[in-house]
Amino acid sequence: MSDKFDVIVIGAGPAGYVAAIRAAQLGLKTACVDAFVGKDGKQALGGTCLNVGCIPSKALLDSSKQFYGLSHNLPAHGISVKDAKVDMAAFIGRKDKIVKQFTGGIAQLFKANKVTPFFGKGKLLKGNQVEITGNDGARQTISATNVILASGSVPIELPFAKFDGKHIVDNAGALDFTEVPKRLGVIGAGVIGLELGSVWNRLGAEVTVIEALPDFLGAADADIAKIALKEFTKQGLAIKLGAKLAKAEAKKNEVHLTYEDKDGAHDLVVDKLLVAVGRRAYTDGLLAEDTGVKLDERGRIVVDEHNHTGVDGVWAIGDAVRGPMLAHKGSEEGVAVAEWIAGKAGHVDFDTIPWVIYTEPEIAWAGKTEKQLKEEGVPYKVGTFPFAAIGRAVAMNEAVGQVKMLAHAETDRILGVHMVGPCVSELIAECVVAMEFKGSSEDLARIVHAHPTLSEAVHEAALSVDKRAIHKGN
Ligand SMILES: Cc1cc2nc3c(=O)[nH]c(=O)nc-3n(C[C@H](O)[C@H](O)[C@H](O)COP(=O)(O)OP(=O)(O)OC[C@H]3O[C@@H](n4cnc5c(N)ncnc54)[C@H](O)[C@@H]3O)c2cc1C
Repeated sequence: MSDKFDVIVIGAGPAGYVAAIRAAQLGLKTACVDAFVGKDGKQALGGTCLNVGCIPSKALLDSSKQFYGLSHNLPAHGISVKDAKVDMAAFIGRKDKIVKQFTGGIAQLFKANKVTPFFGKGKLLKGNQVEITGNDGARQTISATNVILASGSVPIELPFAKFDGKHIVDNAGALDFTEVPKRLGVIGAGVIGLELGSVWNRLGAEVTVIEALPDFLGAADADIAKIALKEFTKQGLAIKLGAKLAKAEAKKNEVHLTYEDKDGAHDLVVDKLLVAVGRRAYTDGLLAEDTGVKLDERGRIVVDEHNHTGVDGVWAIGDAVRGPMLAHKGSEEGVAVAEWIAGKAGHVDFDTIPWVIYTEPEIAWAGKTEKQLKEEGVPYKVGTFPFAAIGRAVAMNEAVGQVKMLAHAETDRILGVHMVGPCVSELIAECVVAMEFKGSSEDLARIVHAHPTLSEAVHEAALSVDKRAIHKGN
């Protein structure tokens, strides 16, 4: 086999593997290099997302939701269950099986699309050559007209709370506890901290979340964040805002923490500590010194609006570059870059990327928050609708939260939609479509929505923008 390709992708996460498949679909001879080693010691494609991110976290969120529902939802349906137990080996084993199914699926997709996989650490050399160092230290060099860097991200480590893989863990560690920790500390009330904190809280752990920022979920719309905070607190998550971790020390089978807030220093002892304070672009060993590829002040690969690095034939996508660290953002960049390379018109609309947090209730949004519109001086109208007035949500006993729609005061164009409630991860898609088509709240208000469905909350919120919601006072 010739070692000259049209495209080499470094990294097989959702950005890289999607780029590789799309490039191959477009008739380009494509290779994909990845160094991720799965639990069985073998190459596992799919990156953070499939191995230790999106997919395993959703598997555990779903299992723990089922367990929690036995005592917190089923009684309202007149159903009681006694002595429910979690078999931890089966709980984690189910997650591992799903991960294996999906990482193996990527290998099959590579085969079907004729993408050549290489296992090892890839380093970009000058002249679009890639040196691959295998696990055994063996080296080989391949080259291509185009190289796409998709090396992803890794968890940020705090110098005073270093990961030890046992007591102080990152996301991968918190997806693999062998028993439910009695007391779990979580540093960071972001998406990962809240999702994984919820998993263990639902199984009975006492969870304390320590967040340095004074506002809860600052990126979300403030009304939505307020409802979510109230619900999470009701569920038993102790969320400390404006609280900074000062030190964490593992002693015997415990972690002793000190955090500081406006009232002074506080001590806390937990059995496990998850540090989820964010992720950083991962470029360690990725670039030879003379490639000309630049990194910004946060260590991200610098790219233009077409994900080009400025070095002939070198592109970068996903968590390793600017923009939200979301799997679907990286995948769409991957498709766009493959299409640009093939001379087609790639496109990613950053203004309509949906955000989802898979807690209970779920949180989802797209577009601008009310605070952003105020800061930008954009005139807007607001429509809201509570799930408490949605028949389907009440029938499900999940009638918590609301849909909030923001539309331009003069043109009525939808500028942002924010939701907290049941299955809003799915409901947001309708709003993204409307926004992508530059739709107005009137457009959504005039569309027939099936009854009884959760989507009626979107319909009524759109009607409410014009103060004509039917099932609530306006
Ligand atoms: C717990 C958790 C839950 C998450 N949940 C969600 C979610 O629900 N929805 C969502 O959209 N996002 C979620 N994310 C974020 C999502 O996982 C990332 O945005 C996404 O994986 C980024 O994709 P990527 O391809 O850019 O990088 P990655 O997925 O990080 O993949 C990069 C790959 O490149 C490999 N690599 C790096 N350098 C080299 C090199 N030099 N040579 C060879 N290989 C290399 C890495 O080993 C890895 O396999 C979650 C993340 C975590 C941690």
